[in-house]
Amino acid sequence: MKYFSIKELCRSATANELGIDNTPTDRAVENMTRLIKVVLDPLREAYGQPITVNSGYRSPALNKAVGGVKSSQHLTGEAADITVGSKEGNKWLFEYIKNNLPYDQLIDEYDYSWVHVSLDADMCNRGEIIHTR
Ligand SMILES: [Zn+2]
Repeated sequence: MKYFSIKELCRSATANELGIDNTPTDRAVENMTRLIKVVLDPLREAYGQPITVNSGYRSPALNKAVGGVKSSQHLTGEAADITVGSKEGNKWLFEYIKNNLPYDQLIDEYDYSWVHVSLDADMCNRGEIIHTR
């Protein structure tokens, strides 16, 4: 892992504010490690500038607090919400992942406000693309 850390993917302002424990399970650490090595680090290398992780791992309590769906891949450490702070930049990330990297789900969230990307724990990746508006 070159650019991203497990700690970074577990960081949550909401968890801090509400005093929610967001310590990952061993399985979630394994999944985040895979996500970093296979998707996030290569993406960061290609982009050449910092990428912010808004949300990575979410404990059940944190997922509930942020209104995440029950089947969210954030619960298993398989997903990350990323942004570079501009829609143009986020569109670049989206297109780069789509064309160059494996992914289970790739979501353009609200016209590239951020990008959600996940990698299946067993690498049975669906390659599903979603645009939310
Ligand atoms: Zn997400």
